[in-house]
Amino acid sequence: MKQPNILFIMSDDHAAHAMSCYRSRINRTPGIDRIADGGMRFDNCFCTNSICTPSRAAILTGTYNHINGVTTLATTMDNRLETFPKLLQGAGYQTAVVGKWHLGEGAAHQPSGFDYWCVLPGQGRYHDPELIEMGTPKVALGYVTDLITEHALAWLKERDPEKPFCLLCHHKAPHRPWEPDPRHAAALNHTTIPEPATLYDDYRNRARAAAAATMRVDRDLNETDLKALVDETLPALDQKRWKYQRYIKDYLACVASVDESVDQLLDYLDENNLAENTIVIYTSDQGFFLGDHGWYDKRFMYEESLRMPFVIRYPRAIRAHSTNADMILNVDMAPTLLELAGLPVPATMQGHSFTPLLKGDVPADWQTSMYYRYWMHLSDHNVYAHYGVRTLRYKLIYYYADSANQPGAIDESREPEWELFDLEKDPHEMNNIYMDPAYAAVIADLKDELHRLQHHVGDTPCDEV
Ligand code: CA
Repeated sequence: MKQPNILFIMSDDHAAHAMSCYRSRINRTPGIDRIADGGMRFDNCFCTNSICTPSRAAILTGTYNHINGVTTLATTMDNRLETFPKLLQGAGYQTAVVGKWHLGEGAAHQPSGFDYWCVLPGQGRYHDPELIEMGTPKVALGYVTDLITEHALAWLKERDPEKPFCLLCHHKAPHRPWEPDPRHAAALNHTTIPEPATLYDDYRNRARAAAAATMRVDRDLNETDLKALVDETLPALDQKRWKYQRYIKDYLACVASVDESVDQLLDYLDENNLAENTIVIYTSDQGFFLGDHGWYDKRFMYEESLRMPFVIRYPRAIRAHSTNADMILNVDMAPTLLELAGLPVPATMQGHSFTPLLKGDVPADWQTSMYYRYWMHLSDHNVYAHYGVRTLRYKLIYYYADSANQPGAIDESREPEWELFDLEKDPHEMNNIYMDPAYAAVIADLKDELHRLQHHVGDTPCDEV
């Protein structure tokens, strides 16, 4: 059988609950839905560290951040590391990455393992962005999402049709400061977007870390984010409602451009008879708070931030309209893509190929728990460093609240604390039951599982209280 092509589309900070294939209450994404409808939607895909640069490193290398060294935004990726595009290139694939890289610049960190690359420096700009094309900077005129799509399509058209391809199309959108293309921004002017159930969270019954975080819609969004001044004569609650609408409309308008891009790329595959033999993935580097818990941003191990969207279409091997609720992780993506391409998975990759799940088979020993660690203590949004375990039903989080000597973390301790959530009874994670004696046995089991996973992936525990 011909080796499959791979079109890996990843956006930045696009939460699953802003996609109609994930039953969004706030928008429609017909382009992305085409992938889900034609293939499989994963309902429990999680990142192992909910922040941009580290998750990107985990996806490319199939390893956890304490192994690949990319623990925070201040750490860059050594581009000598083994990655799935590099292995595909070595096996005869044509490889390219277009858009956001965000793993560092210069000879030691720029994209490697790609026949063609054209990426934004750092976060990149929404309008008239600078692009670095094979090491040479240029300024491109236009809107970033459209430009990334144009570069991706141009490369597809120029490639050698006799060889399989792997194209990584990495959008900057919908990352902060959420600057939409004006035509999409205007489309939402006269609508009111539904508010999330936890917009008015007061952070009671949670670890102190929740109240300490500075990512509140009503307090921490600035003028650049809001692009307008709030009417300060309004009551506080109305100001919060107004800020939520401003924030979420720009976010969703940015998503609308990404969705159009997906549509265009899928059209190209259809028009060139490539759909059948191309694996198409849409994902995002992590989730995001869309006003959930009164927040924007990510970082926490809470559900909205931990969960990644992941839809995959490959007509040769995946049944249309299928869904899967088993647990998959960002570190599992590299091994899966290698296996789908018929290549061996290096023993150094820590993730597990989920190709059996694509066929509808669930291995008896498939993972039912996952390890998470956020290292960037206090930096940017005052989120305390934490690690934890999520099982199918529970989540145990330990805020060790220390820099652990990581670059990019602030070297100032806070009081450590535990959180336990019963996701079955409390899906919005509003009630920390760590101190409830009824859960003592559950906590003991979860701590065992946390330490087992931590040891298994080669990470080191902090002092625990
Ligand atoms: Ca991100």
